[in-house]
Amino acid sequence: MKQIIIIGGGAAGFFCASNLDKTKYNITILEQNSDVLQKVKISGGGRCNVTHACFDAKELVQFYPRGNKELLSVFTKFQPGDTMDWFDQRKVPLKIENDNRVFPESNSSQTIINTLLNEIQQKNVEVKTKCSVKEIEKLDERYIVTTSLGDFEADFVIYTTGSSPKSLKIIESLGHKIIDLVPSLFTFNIKNDLLKELPGTSFENAEISIPKLKTEESGPLLITHWGLSGPAILKISAWEALSLAKVKYNFEIEVNFISKDIDDAEELFQNFKQSNPKKTIGLAKIFDITNRFWQKILEVSKVDLNKQVAQISGKEMQMILENLCKKKLQVTGKSTFKDEFVTAGGIDLKEINFKNMSSKILPNFYVAGEVLNIDAVTGGFNFQACWSEAWLIAQDLNSK
Ligand SMILES: Cc1cc2nc3c(=O)[nH]c(=O)nc-3n(C[C@H](O)[C@H](O)[C@H](O)COP(=O)(O)OP(=O)(O)OC[C@H]3O[C@@H](n4cnc5c(N)ncnc54)[C@H](O)[C@@H]3O)c2cc1C
Repeated sequence: MKQIIIIGGGAAGFFCASNLDKTKYNITILEQNSDVLQKVKISGGGRCNVTHACFDAKELVQFYPRGNKELLSVFTKFQPGDTMDWFDQRKVPLKIENDNRVFPESNSSQTIINTLLNEIQQKNVEVKTKCSVKEIEKLDERYIVTTSLGDFEADFVIYTTGSSPKSLKIIESLGHKIIDLVPSLFTFNIKNDLLKELPGTSFENAEISIPKLKTEESGPLLITHWGLSGPAILKISAWEALSLAKVKYNFEIEVNFISKDIDDAEELFQNFKQSNPKKTIGLAKIFDITNRFWQKILEVSKVDLNKQVAQISGKEMQMILENLCKKKLQVTGKSTFKDEFVTAGGIDLKEINFKNMSSKILPNFYVAGEVLNIDAVTGGFNFQACWSEAWLIAQDLNSK
């Protein structure tokens, strides 16, 4: 039987092994750590956000700042619905949450780990832990994989090492081009009086733009101890990962906390003024924001909280509206989102055949997962890319 060596015991490596035909191949997974599937274990805050309930490939690829074009054909063959079926067939009930993220009903990543472990056990897949791959040598159509536990011969290599710089060096030395790694998915550090003493304040739908990059995003926004976070920030951090690294995370953003055009906001203000002239401005409920944030807006706009609404001058109103709808804030750095770091960069996608995830440079050599220059926003998309790519590899090898 031909020998398949899978390098990396993470989501992509295990899902691939789980779908391979054991009657055709001897399969071995080499993992440098003492435990496999470590990232799955900590994923989704220990609950493992397995995938995202988005079943249209064209819609799905919109969540991938890098890899969106290439993944379209991959998702037409294996998409979140297929992932959910796959786990369902293995008696793992999954649930779709309100925001379309999909988790195991058990709320435990261990359920996903146990399923993958059980699957590879049934397929007699050998797992070698504490086995660090040092070098790969190509001998005609075969490979010698040199590790801390000795050499392994392979008819087929499946490279699923995640984004460790060391393993990118190994594949670079075999001729693949590597796009530099930069962080994706981070929150913005901002020091500004408007955000002071308000951590935990959230906005259902805000608009964020980076004028210098002519880019904008919208979505929920959260004030943190360090600055701003929430889906709107994470999305823009992922899409602009390369540009923001270039400016060393120093740039200006403009925030519209209420997602309303400034003229529409003014109309709301004027209407309120007419119908509630005697109301104290500090207690007025004109916009859909918390009282504390409203009072902070008044404070930074230098408006006396005890004034009656009718006494608010045109100049004061403009100041309030500017701070609400067009607030300029200087970002001075970044923080990691819940340790959920994801990196942009990795193997250049031009050198991969996305019909089956094979290398265009190395024969009988396949690649999947975070080692590729593919990454997504949060929500289960990063795992989905692993599952889909790994499934394609298994189909290709099973059909040989
Ligand atoms: C805290 C956190 C939470 C996350 N939560 C989610 C989530 O809920 N949903 C989601 O979709 N995504 C999530 N992600 C992203 C997701 O975990 C990754 O996209 C995914 O794990 C990538 O899988 P992979 O198999 O490509 O790589 P990895 O999971 O990184 O696996 C690669 C494996 O290869 C091994 N390896 C590397 N080099 C060598 C070598 N030279 N020799 C031998 N072995 C080697 C590594 O030790 C590792 O075990 C999260 C990430 C983090 C950090």
